[in-house]
Amino acid sequence: MNILVFGPPGSGKSTHSRKIVQKYKLEYISSGDLIRKEIERGSSLGKEMERYLAKGDLIPDVAVNTLVFSKLGRIRTNFILDGYPRTAEQVLALENFLYERGIRLEVAIDIFISKEESVERISGRRICSKCGAVYHIRYKPPKVDGKCDICGGEIVQRKDDRPELVGKRYDIYIKNMKPIITFYKKQGIYVQINGHGGIDEVWERIRPLLDYIHNKEMKRKEHE
Ligand SMILES: [Zn+2]
Repeated sequence: MNILVFGPPGSGKSTHSRKIVQKYKLEYISSGDLIRKEIERGSSLGKEMERYLAKGDLIPDVAVNTLVFSKLGRIRTNFILDGYPRTAEQVLALENFLYERGIRLEVAIDIFISKEESVERISGRRICSKCGAVYHIRYKPPKVDGKCDICGGEIVQRKDDRPELVGKRYDIYIKNMKPIITFYKKQGIYVQINGHGGIDEVWERIRPLLDYIHNKEMKRKEHE
């Protein structure tokens, strides 16, 4: 089963991707994680990407493609792609990459939330500066104001989580996704999931769909 998951900032797509990975034993490929790791490594590519993020802009397609394909090339099948592709150019590159290797996508899941919801979820997010634990001023506040429950470290807001940058990221996201959504609709693999509500609520909208696809794939393999 090969899956794409996308959704605006704060849609919970990474949370749900990890749940899908656990339940269906897939390999998790997150373009965001790959980018963060590259920045941590401090490579010249990482430094270039860091400059784009600091401005709230998207990273150039060629850089993201390079990172994703190097991982995808090793895995080949049973994967979930989180946050990729995000531009028409990335879709084309991915299509070529998969086609050359005879790999098929089963479903493209779009977890949708409104701009208001996106800004509220992301701008309320706080991160422990020491251990990286994630909090939310409304949904998951720390027990002691400003201090991490786990390690006592200082809780801060990430630079790119400020409301004005989140709003900008949301608008860029929606604009870029339009042709991509059209493309996967034409392929007949696009499904939009309502991302509003709690994690369990949203999960129960995703799980039945994947069970259905999973069972269909199993039956197809039996007949081969
Ligand atoms: Zn901490």
